[in-house]
Amino acid sequence: MASAPRSSRARVGAVRTLAPDVLEVDLDMLDPPALAFEAGQWISVPFGPKPVRAYSIASSPRSPARLTLCADVAPGGLGSRWFRGLGPGDEVRFKGPLGGFVLPPDETRAPLFVAEEIGIVPVRALLGELAAGRAATLLYAAPDDRRPYDAELRERARRDGGFAYHPVSGGELTAAVETLAPRAGDRVAYVVGGEATIKRVRALLLAQGLDRKAIRWERFW
Ligand SMILES: Cc1cc2nc3c(=O)[nH]c(=O)nc-3n(C[C@H](O)[C@H](O)[C@H](O)COP(=O)(O)OP(=O)(O)OC[C@H]3O[C@@H](n4cnc5c(N)ncnc54)[C@H](O)[C@@H]3O)c2cc1C
Repeated sequence: MASAPRSSRARVGAVRTLAPDVLEVDLDMLDPPALAFEAGQWISVPFGPKPVRAYSIASSPRSPARLTLCADVAPGGLGSRWFRGLGPGDEVRFKGPLGGFVLPPDETRAPLFVAEEIGIVPVRALLGELAAGRAATLLYAAPDDRRPYDAELRERARRDGGFAYHPVSGGELTAAVETLAPRAGDRVAYVVGGEATIKRVRALLLAQGLDRKAIRWERFW
């Protein structure tokens, strides 16, 4: 169960490079010692009195003492520079957990996840909450050399017959949604990425008859 957002402190543990300009960072919680959150939620990192940057929690709520974040640092702004500069032992301050891009407990429809590039982060956390065998489809649009978590997603698809994994390039996404949507049936869609892609995918899904309320999205940029 998620807690109310609060000011929090954590210490950077390991830092890993998952792909060119894609970094993963472990944060060991200091205060509170464990952060209760729901898969799909994010934290807000302040930069002075006004600017903030949001980072989704890539790791499982079942490990509340250590959060893993994953960022695309290619945009090169405030957030990317901060993320790139993180090293083991650094103390970080943030507010969280925040956001409602979560799996409702009573949701029985099969999810169709659509992730654009680093938008995979909350989707990875949501997938971690789905029981093996539960029907779910993931469309993951990214360049082949910049697709973090690809290996574990392929492995999951190999082990779990309920999970269909479709890695595609950005240019193939529209066609892939069109191909899969007719089979979407009684589905609920979770779309994450840039605004342009969210709009395009949402329009396609609406045209395929998905209910407006069955399309949930999180805009990263
Ligand atoms: C709820 C939420 C959760 C988020 N979770 C994550 C996360 O888990 N990992 C992550 O990397 N980012 C995430 N973001 C985006 C993150 O908050 C920053 O916007 C991002 O790190 C870029 O910040 P910046 O200061 O470096 O660049 P900015 O100065 O904010 O942006 C520079 C330019 O790049 C564009 N841009 C920003 N990000 C991208 C991108 N990934 N691809 C292409 N263009 C982009 C912006 O629109 C802008 O035009 C999330 C955003 C939201 C709202």
